[in-house]
Amino acid sequence: MQSASDDRPGHPFLAFLNTVRDDGKTRRLNSFATPEDLIVQLDRAGLWIGVPPPNRGQLDQALMLRETAYATLSAMAAGRRPGREDALDMETAIKAVLADSQFRFSKAGLDIAPGPLAGLHDVLVLSLIDLLRSPAIGRLRECRRCTHLFLDHGRGPGRHWCSMARCGNRAKSESFRRRQKAAPG
Ligand SMILES: [Zn+2]
Repeated sequence: MQSASDDRPGHPFLAFLNTVRDDGKTRRLNSFATPEDLIVQLDRAGLWIGVPPPNRGQLDQALMLRETAYATLSAMAAGRRPGREDALDMETAIKAVLADSQFRFSKAGLDIAPGPLAGLHDVLVLSLIDLLRSPAIGRLRECRRCTHLFLDHGRGPGRHWCSMARCGNRAKSESFRRRQKAAPG
């Protein structure tokens, strides 16, 4: 049984990837109406923003990153090799953002912070690097019903749904209806 606290994706960057509300495996409907809504959602997910809400062009750039990162991470979660072009796009974005970032070396190690001119895209790429380098990345899973990704920290058979409320309960009632239809009667 999943509890409400298990419904979180487990990393702020995954909350950004999950800003689509489609049922099933399409990714056409954003979960936010305006750039300000997106910032509120990211802030709530623990992704410190500290940059002004993106303009149209900056939002498009962030959403392109979202879809490239989704394609790459979806493949990784399934144990497949990501598409060549997607992997190359990610590599290019990561290298460019690192080149503009500020490095601080201290007793705690290396802290990489957005550069003085950084916008939403750069903040997101730094969060993506943090996720990709995290030891928990091996626990990345994709919801069986929608395209939301999460880190599965459960034991046993593991977690199949982004959340019980959004997908788990509906998937269960759908398979119940299918079984009823299939039963002779
Ligand atoms: Zn789902």
